Amino acid sequence: MNKEKEEIKKKIAVIYCRVSTQDQADKGLSIEEQERLCKEKAEQAGYSILAIIKDEGKSGGSLKRAGMQQLMKLSIEKKIDAVFTVHSDRIARNTENYLYLRALFRNNDVELFFIQLPNLDDSAGSKMMDSMFAIVNQYQRDITSDKVTMTMEGKARLGYFPALAPLGYKNITRLDPTVERAGQKIVVKDPEVAPLVKKGFELYATGNFSVYDITDILYEKGLRTKYGKKLTYSRLYDVLRNPFYIGEVHWGKVHLKEGKHEHLMDKELFYSVQRLLTMKNGHLCRRRKYQWLLSGFLRCHTHQCRYTAEYHLNKRIGYYHCTNRNGCGKYVEVNKLESMIEDKFKEIEFSQKFIDLVIEKVKSVFYERRKLYDDKRKSLINQKTVFELKRKSAEDKLLANVITDDDFRRIKEEINEELESLNKRTIELEKERRINMDVAQEVLNLSRNIYDTYSKAPHNLKRHLLAFFWEKFEIKDEVIIKSYPSLLFAELLKLEQAFYKKPNRENPYESKGFSTIINSTALSSR
Ligand SMILES: [Zn+2]
Repeated sequence: MNKEKEEIKKKIAVIYCRVSTQDQADKGLSIEEQERLCKEKAEQAGYSILAIIKDEGKSGGSLKRAGMQQLMKLSIEKKIDAVFTVHSDRIARNTENYLYLRALFRNNDVELFFIQLPNLDDSAGSKMMDSMFAIVNQYQRDITSDKVTMTMEGKARLGYFPALAPLGYKNITRLDPTVERAGQKIVVKDPEVAPLVKKGFELYATGNFSVYDITDILYEKGLRTKYGKKLTYSRLYDVLRNPFYIGEVHWGKVHLKEGKHEHLMDKELFYSVQRLLTMKNGHLCRRRKYQWLLSGFLRCHTHQCRYTAEYHLNKRIGYYHCTNRNGCGKYVEVNKLESMIEDKFKEIEFSQKFIDLVIEKVKSVFYERRKLYDDKRKSLINQKTVFELKRKSAEDKLLANVITDDDFRRIKEEINEELESLNKRTIELEKERRINMDVAQEVLNLSRNIYDTYSKAPHNLKRHLLAFFWEKFEIKDEVIIKSYPSLLFAELLKLEQAFYKKPNRENPYESKGFSTIINSTALSSR
């Protein structure tokens, strides 16, 4: 939907209902009842209802439910403004999926409404802890994959493609001691597939065939995906756009005109295809936005619409601003707003009881995992000893003239291979153990000093932490005038497991009429 229509038309909502087989057995809220409650609420709030999506007899543990998939699709395609459901547990049962969905909705400007308030039992505390672990775990995995990315970039910088070979090529390992280490695993032309890929380019270059035609033709000629299927239209489109075929290597921040792999076609053919593609699909040009830290979290108080950000003044300074077409005329410097938000974390604190619970939980998770690693490590050491004994025995047999020279060499090679793989697994295990330690440390830091953890966190962890505590912030006259806690955080506030300290009088924003309305019910307990 385009923006002009959005402003005239009523906001659009979808109703989502789910019952599991267990719910049905327990006589929980029936699907009809869920539908009725949501409809009522959505209509009261002035939404027009696009669809009522139902998942019957489906568990909330996975997102692979037909209805949920439909809901996610509608959100991503930006066809809806809101989702109404009776309770957060209808959309997801576990925290990781829940946080994932929340982020997905937020990034697509979809608001989430629940009919029933979350249950005020102690499970809020454990849910919160689960989310803390989920976030920190995710973050540690990201760091690890960043390291992998860096080695891959290093390889790309040397001109070698570091990942699964593009269509028409295959990955091989060559054991050539004269070649540098990064050049041992390389991609080479696949003699069966390469001519078909080239054929695809030649056909497209004639201008007589569409991308659809070509997928059919190549399929007839025997081109298959890894799974024996016909190439999809979008995959072929990517293939036709890939400059790897004329020798270029693009990986992360690495962009080389001339890699170390063989070309699959000449530049003339490649560029004539590019010209045709641009002519036909110019309007489809995909652009990727820079991910601003606060995007999705800010709303204009006056217009009730979202803020966006962009660079001004020769790209030196970024500004967040209201997206309303008439606009507020207010641009807030990125750094200013981001540090205001950072300050909000100074005002959050967990109760001592909650911190104690977290410490207990961290301990038990940590010890449990550590025992698992110790067991795995012992088992690896035992296996290693067995192979070392085998090697000794082979040596003895060789010296006793029981086996031939060739047999000995073969056995020795096999054993060395096994030992090498065991060593690799030991290193992997050590890495896991270190992550476990880091996770424990981070979770403890987070519970003890939220502001400190947030202010030192890198961009992606910051986004996680923001989503963890906050739903959104409303901005007016360059000031945050309303802060909405996340559901989990709101629950903890109600349970007095977390506190939100009122900003003190010296706060520079306070003097401009700064008031924090934090979901009044959530604060009434203070
Ligand atoms: Zn505005």
